[in-house]
Amino acid sequence: MTEETIFSRIIKGEIPCDEVYNDSVCLAFRDIQPQAPIHILVIPKKPIESLKDAGPEDKELLGHLLLISSKIASQQGLTNWRTIINTGEEAGQTVFHLHLHIIGGRKLDWPPG
Ligand code: AMP
Repeated sequence: MTEETIFSRIIKGEIPCDEVYNDSVCLAFRDIQPQAPIHILVIPKKPIESLKDAGPEDKELLGHLLLISSKIASQQGLTNWRTIINTGEEAGQTVFHLHLHIIGGRKLDWPPG
């Protein structure tokens, strides 16, 4: 069984969040430690630890997360932004519930650190 994370507790309503979008498949809220003027997390309600744990059965869900993240970015007034999925500790993943970062509102450097 997938371990409880801060994000599964947010989904259950046990921890508050600054919600920007909610549907039957996913929830989006502002990151508590924003790295840019706009920094939003999009998480599936299904508890998937990391992108590497998603399977073919999650194809529609993953497409939904990407399309919704684009819709949210546009609704936030962004025309340029970055969508990031950190996978694994060495890539910077700290919460082991799959999430997409939407980061924008400032010039973003490349490559990332
Ligand atoms: P990652 O490092 O890719 O796993 O991203 C996890 C993100 O979750 C970080 O950017 C944190 O700032 C953010 N975060 C952790 N706890 C909360 C919370 N309670 N509400 C909103 N964002 C959070």
